[in-house]
Amino acid sequence: MDESETTKPTTTTTAASNPNSRADEPPNAPKPRVALGPGPGPAMSSVSSPLAARAGHELPFVQPSSYLRPSSRSHTIPPVATPMSPIDEEQMQGLQGMRDFLRVRTSYDVLPLSFRLIILDNDLLIKKSLNILIQNGIVSAPLWDSHQSKFAGILTATDYINLIQYYCQFPEHIDNLDKFPLSSLREIEKAIGVLPIETVSVHPSRPLYEACSRMLKTRARRIPLVDIDNETGRETVVSVITQYRILKFIAVNTEQYTSLLKKTVREIGLGTYTDLRTGSMTQSVLDIINMMVTSNISAVPIVDKNNVVLNVFEAIDVIPIIKTGVVEELQINVGEALSKRGEDFGGIFTCQEDDRLDSIFITLRQSRVHRLVVIDDNWHLKGVISLSDILKYVLFYGDDGDYFPSS
Ligand code: AMP
Repeated sequence: MDESETTKPTTTTTAASNPNSRADEPPNAPKPRVALGPGPGPAMSSVSSPLAARAGHELPFVQPSSYLRPSSRSHTIPPVATPMSPIDEEQMQGLQGMRDFLRVRTSYDVLPLSFRLIILDNDLLIKKSLNILIQNGIVSAPLWDSHQSKFAGILTATDYINLIQYYCQFPEHIDNLDKFPLSSLREIEKAIGVLPIETVSVHPSRPLYEACSRMLKTRARRIPLVDIDNETGRETVVSVITQYRILKFIAVNTEQYTSLLKKTVREIGLGTYTDLRTGSMTQSVLDIINMMVTSNISAVPIVDKNNVVLNVFEAIDVIPIIKTGVVEELQINVGEALSKRGEDFGGIFTCQEDDRLDSIFITLRQSRVHRLVVIDDNWHLKGVISLSDILKYVLFYGDDGDYFPSS
């Protein structure tokens, strides 16, 4: 990533360093050591400090406010709302502005003025569908059930990954490879025990917030916009929008709000930092695919033996490998597989835990980002921030309401 795209935070104010936020804690709670001014340490512990121990007191530090409390409250102190720090307040203002934006804009607004839509019939052979995706330079397509005239889900790279997993588990069916239609994907998912293909959709004129909310609820990374004719009840697939498109739309149109998001990735705990699934350059693609299916993730960071990030294997990297239709290709190692990437590959994006969310939105605005790998100064892997992590934070952080409205 272009390093200039992310700016380091200039201030890191934490609640723990704010004396106001601790005024209502019980007297025996650990108190922060507060530096009262410049000067050598020992002078600070003189009796002139309000936090210094007084003769007869067992506790090392007592705040003046402790004496002012009625004795009946000294054992159970009711929670009192802690005033937000200015940086927290600004962050919430930014999030609120973005949420209001998502409520007044519709999914239709995200669509470009002109676009093409390739819909595949559910009766089409899976093998042919792969060629169509490759020839048209696309990585997914809505499916159509022409018997019932209904939307039947979205075909994505994950479906091919599931198919590969199926053949690993049931090698005796390898000869049927060419005979399976797209409609059999459901049976394949059932057989290998993964979540079924997503059939969730949203009406294009519903608020964009609803499309985001449904995607997060179902863990879908894209959602089709399906219109329904009031008279005939017939469905029409208008287009498909992805988490990537929506975040780009937010980043481009709400700069006045995204610029308020001054808290760092570490402060807001954005992304995943534990149980990270990683691979090595010498591992087989099949191993990585297995990892993606069992952990329901769309990318695996590739690291060396010191946990230094070398690359990221993404679900769509499977497509060029299987296009020949030769299953043995999957035995190749990750290094070879990644060398098959096309020239249009957008690159790997990284950030650090001290990067602020406003700078991540600048990167989202300027580049084709599908996830960020969190690293330290020496490129050691620390975590992964997916677009779904960012979207979830934008929609729901600090919101105790119903996250997932049903309509
Ligand atoms: P994604 O598959 O990118 O939509 O991510 C779904 C969730 O899994 C997000 O909360 C990510 O932070 C998390 N995630 C993504 N990649 C990995 C990985 N390699 N290991 C562990 N968790 C991951």
